Amino acid sequence: MSASDPLGGAPLDRGPVDGDPVDGDPVYLDYAATTPVDPEVAEAMVGCLTLEGDFGNAGSATHAFGRRAAARVETARAQVATLIGAEPDEITFTSGATESNNLVLLGVARANADRGRHLITARTEHKAVLDPCKRLEKDGFAVTYLTPDRAGRIDPEAVRAALRADTVLVSIMYVNNEIGVIQDVGAIGALCHAHGVAFHTDAAQAAGKVPLNVRRLPVDFVSFTAHKIYGPKGVGALYVRRASRPLIQPVAFGGGQERGLRPGTLPTHQIVGFGRACEIAVRQLETEQGRLTALRERLWTGMAALGGTHLNGEGAPRAPGILNVSFEGVEGESLVTGLTGLAISTGSACNSASAEPSYVLRALGRDTQLAQSSLRFSVGRFTTDADVDFALEAVQGEVGRLRALSPAAGSDALGAAGGIWAAGELRTPGGTPLAPRDGTEGATLISGEAGGPGQETWVRFHLAVADGTVKDARFQAYGCPHTLQVASWLVRQLPGRTPEQGVPGTPASWAEAVSAPVEKLGRLLVVEDALRACLGRWRRGA
Ligand SMILES: *Cc1c(COP(=O)(O)O)cnc(C)c1O
Repeated sequence: MSASDPLGGAPLDRGPVDGDPVDGDPVYLDYAATTPVDPEVAEAMVGCLTLEGDFGNAGSATHAFGRRAAARVETARAQVATLIGAEPDEITFTSGATESNNLVLLGVARANADRGRHLITARTEHKAVLDPCKRLEKDGFAVTYLTPDRAGRIDPEAVRAALRADTVLVSIMYVNNEIGVIQDVGAIGALCHAHGVAFHTDAAQAAGKVPLNVRRLPVDFVSFTAHKIYGPKGVGALYVRRASRPLIQPVAFGGGQERGLRPGTLPTHQIVGFGRACEIAVRQLETEQGRLTALRERLWTGMAALGGTHLNGEGAPRAPGILNVSFEGVEGESLVTGLTGLAISTGSACNSASAEPSYVLRALGRDTQLAQSSLRFSVGRFTTDADVDFALEAVQGEVGRLRALSPAAGSDALGAAGGIWAAGELRTPGGTPLAPRDGTEGATLISGEAGGPGQETWVRFHLAVADGTVKDARFQAYGCPHTLQVASWLVRQLPGRTPEQGVPGTPASWAEAVSAPVEKLGRLLVVEDALRACLGRWRRGA
C-alpha cells in the first residue's frame, strides 16, 4: 500500500517509505536493552582467551597461568569498585544483574528468616527483582509492592509506612529501565537504616550513567551489570557493604570462589572486559551525561511537536539516555513494526514477546491504550544527532500513517457511516480523495465496527455493495500488526462476495495465515465481530 491510501492494502506489505534504511542495519536506539561492547573492551577480553593470553584459572595458585589470571581479575575488581566508590573486597562477581538481584533477595531473606519474613519493593521493579520476590512469597515470606506516583517515583514516606517490625530488606531500583526515572534512593536508604533494615538497589541502569557513590549512599547491596555499560553480556556484580556481609548467605554452593558467596570458576575474559568497561565509564561519565541528555531532549522536542504524545516519567528526575513516549491513537507494536529503520523497544524488552501492555506504565496509572502505545528510545555512546533526526522523521511518518488508519481519526469527516464514499467519491477519514475502484458508482455503503476507544483493538469495515455483491471494501483499525494485516487481507477477499457467504475463513485460520501467536486470537475475534456487524446490516437491508 502507498502512504496516500491508508485505508487499503496491507500495512506489513508496504513498499519502502521515507525513514526506512536504504541498506544495512537499522539505527540502534535500544541502549537500555543492551549496549555494544566498546572496541577497547573487546581487545582486553581477547587477551584472556587463547594459549598466548591470560587464559588460566584464577584459582590455580600453583603456576604462573593461574597467578596471572588472578592478577587480572583483581585489577578488574578494583576498576569495578572504583565505578561506584566501593572497596575491591566489597565486589562479588556474578553473571549479571539478574543473578545479583536473585542472590541478594533470596540470600538476605533466607539468612534473616528467623528475625523476620517481610520485604518491601515496588511494582515498577525489573522482573529480576519481582520474580525472586514471588518465589519468596511461595516460600512463606511476605512482600509489599509499593505503587509509584504518576511520574513513576516511589515516595520515601510510602516506604516508611510499609516498614514492619519483621521487615528484613527493602529493594528499590535506582533508575527504571523502561522510563528512566531516578528514585530517591538516598532518602529511602537513610530511612531504612534509621529503622535498622537492610537496603538494596538494582542499579543496572544507573551505574556508569549517573553519579553513584556508595560512600555517600546509605545502601547495603547494589546490583549492576557489564552489558549495559559497553561491557560483555554474562557478567555483573553485587556490591556488599563490608559491615553488611553477615546479612547475606549464598544461594549456590561449589568451589568457594568469591568468599563462598558466589562460587564457580571466574570467567577471566568477562571480568577483565567488565573492568575495562567500568574504567571507560568513569572517564566519560560527566561528558556523556550532558551529551546524552541533549540527544534525549532533541528527540522529545521532536516527538512533542507531533501532538498527542505523552512523556512517561514527566516531572521526575530521569537518567540521560532513556525516553519513553506514549502516542495517542497508535498501537505500539504496530508502530514498532512499521519503524523498520529503527531498533527500539515497545513496553520493556523482556516483556515484548507477550501482548500485555507494560506493567510499569500501568502502575503509573496509564490506561491500557496509552500503556500499549508507548515506545522506549534509548540513546548511548555511539548515537549521533543525525541518528536522532532520522528517528524523528521516521516516527513522524509512521505515527501519521497509523493515525490516519485509526477509526478514531477524522471521525467528523466520516459523519454518517459510509461517508468516505460520499457522492461516489472515495475519501480517507482525513478527507483526502482516493481513486474509486471500478463498479463502486451508485453502490450502497455499509459500515460496521467492533471494539472502541480505549480498548486494545478497534476495527471498522466499510463495504460498497451493488447487485447483491461487494464491489469494494475498506477498513480502519487501531490494533496490533496482526490485526491490521488480517483486516487488510480480508478487504481484498470481500469483493464479489454475497451476504450469505458470510465471513471468509475463521479467526483461527487467519491467525495461522499471518503467523499470529495464540495470545492474539482475542484481537482477531474483534476483527470478525466488526465484519459480522457489517454483513449483518447488509442482510437486514440497512
Ligand atoms: C538489564 C537489567 C537487569 C538484568 O540484567 P542482566 O545483566 O541482563 O541479568 C536487571 N535490572 C535492570 C534494571 C536492568 O535494566
